[in-house]
Amino acid sequence: MANIRIKNIFKRYPGGVLAVNDVSLDIADKDFVVLVGPSGCGKTTTLRMLAGLEEITEGEIYIDNKLVNEVAPKDRDIAMVFQDYALYPHMTVFNNMAFGLKVRKVPRREITAMVNEAARTLGIEHLLDRKPKALSGGQRQRVALGRAIVRSPKVFLMDEPLSNLDAKLRGLMRVEILKLHQKLQTTFVYVTHDQVEAMTMGSKIVVMKDGIIHQIDAPQTLYERPNNVFVAEFIGNPKINIIEVIPEKVGDDVFITLGESKIKIPSGKGKKLEDSGDYIGNTLLFGVRPEDIHDEEDDCDSKDSSIKVLIDVVENLGSETIVHFDIDGVDFTGKLNPTTKVRPGDSVILYLDTNRIHFFDKETENAIMH
Ligand code: ATP
Repeated sequence: MANIRIKNIFKRYPGGVLAVNDVSLDIADKDFVVLVGPSGCGKTTTLRMLAGLEEITEGEIYIDNKLVNEVAPKDRDIAMVFQDYALYPHMTVFNNMAFGLKVRKVPRREITAMVNEAARTLGIEHLLDRKPKALSGGQRQRVALGRAIVRSPKVFLMDEPLSNLDAKLRGLMRVEILKLHQKLQTTFVYVTHDQVEAMTMGSKIVVMKDGIIHQIDAPQTLYERPNNVFVAEFIGNPKINIIEVIPEKVGDDVFITLGESKIKIPSGKGKKLEDSGDYIGNTLLFGVRPEDIHDEEDDCDSKDSSIKVLIDVVENLGSETIVHFDIDGVDFTGKLNPTTKVRPGDSVILYLDTNRIHFFDKETENAIMH
């Protein structure tokens, strides 16, 4: 059991790359925290500094309230699972899992009991005599997890552990890792570039870009209240529609124009827009998620928000239908019910759920309100 405190850490690699730029993060005991972001955002470097595999340029890391900057990886009581599993090819599964324990001179009988117990947890007892090359990708992944479990570490660190698996197996192993977390009741820190993995696994998600944390929140909050355009676009699939608009005041209400349609902003949001700065009459960014665009007004919480569009492409996915259309030169996506009658080439009325729309500042791209 352990909490983790990362305090203003920086990592500058030789050559000058600032991979991690003033990252601070508090992780509670037993949390499942996911670091997510595009390639090169600094998530692996952050994890490796936590593991002690990478020197910290500046800042402090505490595990269980103890400063660990100068503590060797083997003394941090953590276990790390890597993307490539890093199994020893010449050893059996049993010996791969036992290796760390043998090094630490754990008595042989205890090792056997611990390896068997971990193998049972992961459903790989029947594979203990095999070598890694005789295992499937998913089985190798389980062995790598097993090797981490047997050490009963305070903290599990995982770096893209599922990225070598096919989509189906990835889905299965996601659930396995979540079950493991529930069973072991330890702190997990998990790195991925996959927003679906992050959303489905993390109790707390840390979104990073260019070495900087853009938001730390629970999955639903990230989705509903993104701090800025980057987070809004990174979370959600298909991604949020974003377009420049100029809000105008007509009578007591605020409107925006999308193509040839005028959309009334719900009064609470309109008021906030007026109060938040110099936004009325000036360009800002409007965002609406594809799932908040409907072809039946009844599916919206709000009324009076129709847009007239010409449908370009329709993708029927069985459980939902994705439609594509253009508004003022910007590609828009809507996620409609699979029962929709909308076809390519149709000129149709769609409805925006204006209670769920977003506005961002054009210059800073920070959220004005949701
Ligand atoms: P990925 O998903 O591609 O693994 P990441 O978010 O984990 O990306 P990091 O591996 O932490 O990103 O890398 C962050 C930045 O630091 C990148 O610009 C990378 O090129 C740079 N970097 C990483 N390792 C080194 C190194 N040993 N020397 C110099 N620069 C490095």
